[in-house]
Amino acid sequence: MPTRRPLIAGNWKMNGRLKDLAWVETFAEAVSADNCDVLVCPPAILLHAFAGAFQGQGISLGAQDCSPEPDGAYTGDISARMLKDIGCTHVIVGHSERRDGHGETDALVRRKAEAALNEGLTPILCVGEHLQEREDGRAVGAVLAQLAASLPDADATRLVIAYEPVWAIGTGRSAGPDEAQEMHAAIRAAWPGADGAQLRILYGGSVKPDNVEALMACADIDGALVGGASLDPASFARLVNLSS
Ligand code: PEP
Repeated sequence: MPTRRPLIAGNWKMNGRLKDLAWVETFAEAVSADNCDVLVCPPAILLHAFAGAFQGQGISLGAQDCSPEPDGAYTGDISARMLKDIGCTHVIVGHSERRDGHGETDALVRRKAEAALNEGLTPILCVGEHLQEREDGRAVGAVLAQLAASLPDADATRLVIAYEPVWAIGTGRSAGPDEAQEMHAAIRAAWPGADGAQLRILYGGSVKPDNVEALMACADIDGALVGGASLDPASFARLVNLSS
């Protein structure tokens, strides 16, 4: 039985300023877990500043999005190559705020994940159903279809899947452990390779210090993608401590 090391990833979304470099010191003082990987994804404009601050603190640097293209005339875009160059190890692709807010299709998300893999970055590929799909009993089918259409061809150890039910993101309403576990088990069972037991699957959607332990106790939940609760360094440290 392979052991999957927990990964707690913070997604700051469009929050943060240079003055928030103090976040790192407060987090480092409060965190005590050492058997858990920690990743933080600040906005692109802050990546360079935080790359230095995270070094030596056991915090990996991730981006929130990347272009599917390697270089070229794509005004405003940032390539996976640039992210790698600046010190990123991971990049989130297919977050619902990009799928729904920027019209990103499964095909585009797949190309972004491939671009990340080509540069040696680990894509964190997000999938998740909308409320109507859950209420209609179609959640598992919807998520597995989305996953199949946006998944690049890669070994399980080269990427991370984040299951993020859209109705749970930023709403304060998390999926219950049973709901989340059912989806994570379905995702693992549907993994196309023989190495699905090694796949890290994160849960995301209103994860907080008061619900993370119950989620992490589930057999197929290997960590969390955390939005709002990652902005407060003490709260994020508590969440990491409770996850390991
Ligand atoms: C997210 O941004 O991926 C997320 C899960 O946000 P929140 O934790 O705020 O629901």
